[in-house]
Order: sequence, then structure tokens, then C-alpha cells
Amino acid sequence: MAERSNIDARICQRVAELTDRSSPEDWPEAMLVTADELIEIINSELEVATTVPAEVSMPLQCNWYQEDEGSDVWGTSCGSRFTLNDGTPFDNRMEHCAFCGKHIIDNPWPDDGGDEQKGGA
Ligand SMILES: [Zn+2]
Repeated sequence: MAERSNIDARICQRVAELTDRSSPEDWPEAMLVTADELIEIINSELEVATTVPAEVSMPLQCNWYQEDEGSDVWGTSCGSRFTLNDGTPFDNRMEHCAFCGKHIIDNPWPDDGGDEQKGGA
């Protein structure tokens, strides 16, 4: 993610890197830039700085919900379904969603008490 506070330094850097420019000998700290060049540089830096990476604007985790008690089908918050032969995604050492790549949060069917294992395989 671009650092907003660096915009001023980045703009100066780009002005300094314009080709075929050398500061006046009697005013070495001055930088030569035309209005058009400066506008272009500022606009491009602003565009970079205000572009929000996708992973920031969306949740970083994907919730997997067991569809029914004892079901081996899990729905995902990114809109897909996945079948697990046994156990939860966590039990199967799945850390990231196979569809969206985000970190998986297990949401097993609520256990109303009693043994959670039904049948077993
Ligand atoms: Zn997902």
C-alpha cells in the first residue's frame, strides 16, 4: 500500500529525475519542471496513493459453513461449496480457501450436545 506521507518526497524525486534538467548554477537547490510535467507527476502519484488494494477493501477471511448437521458439504462466504470427506476444514489442515485464497474460518453445524461424531467412517 502506498504511503500517503511519501507523496511529497516521491514527487520531488520524480521531478529531480526528469531528463535533460540541471539546476541553474547560481541556484543549485532549484528544480526545473514545467506545469504540464508537474501536473502529470502529481496526478500519477495521487492515483497510486489512492488506489486501495483489493485485500484491504474486502474481508481477509473466508467463512466456511457446514451445510447441515453431519453434512460433508461446506458452503463458503465467497460463494462456493466444497465437500470434505470427514471433519472440518481445520481438521483437514486446510488454512486457505480453495476458491478465494483467504484464511478459512470454520463454522461447523452447531452441536446441540451429545457426541459430535455421528456414524463415523
Ligand atoms: Zn473463499
